[in-house]
Amino acid sequence: RMSNNMLKLENVFVNYANIQVLHGINIEVKAGEIVTIIGANGAGKSTTLKAISGLIPKTLNSSIKFLDEDITSLQAEKVVERGISLSPEGRRIFPDLTVTENLEMGAYLRAKDKEGVKNDMKEVFTMFPRLEERKKQSGKTLSGGEQQMLAIARALMAKPKLLMLDEPSTGLAPLIVKDIFEIIKQVNKKGTTVLLVEQNAKIALSVADRGYVLKNGNIVMEDTGKNLLKNELIRAAYLGES
Ligand code: ATP
Repeated sequence: RMSNNMLKLENVFVNYANIQVLHGINIEVKAGEIVTIIGANGAGKSTTLKAISGLIPKTLNSSIKFLDEDITSLQAEKVVERGISLSPEGRRIFPDLTVTENLEMGAYLRAKDKEGVKNDMKEVFTMFPRLEERKKQSGKTLSGGEQQMLAIARALMAKPKLLMLDEPSTGLAPLIVKDIFEIIKQVNKKGTTVLLVEQNAKIALSVADRGYVLKNGNIVMEDTGKNLLKNELIRAAYLGES
């Protein structure tokens, strides 16, 4: 049964060694939404996505539910199988593999479904014509914007219900950032729910249905993207306006 509440984090705690980084955060993502988590460098945004992805352990009474099922302690591969995929910070594409090979890596958990993977590759190329033009080139020869597109496209090859994006704007020129966020909106329109973390609060809030503000490992505010964009405190602290 499809739940309106796709992802639900309750009381999520994460420690690195003896440093507590997330202090019991609560976040919800509903099916069909674009939700963003904004916050300064080091607030714990990447840690939140890694915690959901099963890449780092949670402590105390942390609970993460996806489609009403408990995924708190699942391994990363199992989380992908359930329908959550991550486009990591810094893109992390495979530099020596071609565009096509990078995309195939995104589908490795269903590599046996050759026909399905082929069809999805076609669909991804329709969405990212630049990648099709460069499909035989190695990842490292792509521009920064193209590498970011490849990272998103690779995550989509897992056929996720929830796509998580870690700082897709990093290191890209403003016009390229605009393109990337247009693509994110398109992906969402086609039916994929999106959870996005960003330091670029302005663009993230402008595409998001709802946003959370993470500060020192605590959620300190949540509202619609629209309201957060016009909130005076947010404008002063995160949008460089006062
Ligand atoms: P950034 O934009 O820099 O990635 P962020 O909000 O995503 O910021 P995190 O990367 O989640 O922040 O880091 C949160 C805190 O945890 C920071 O203080 C960081 O130094 C610390 N941290 C992150 N990874 C580790 C690790 N592997 N070991 C120890 N501390 C870590």
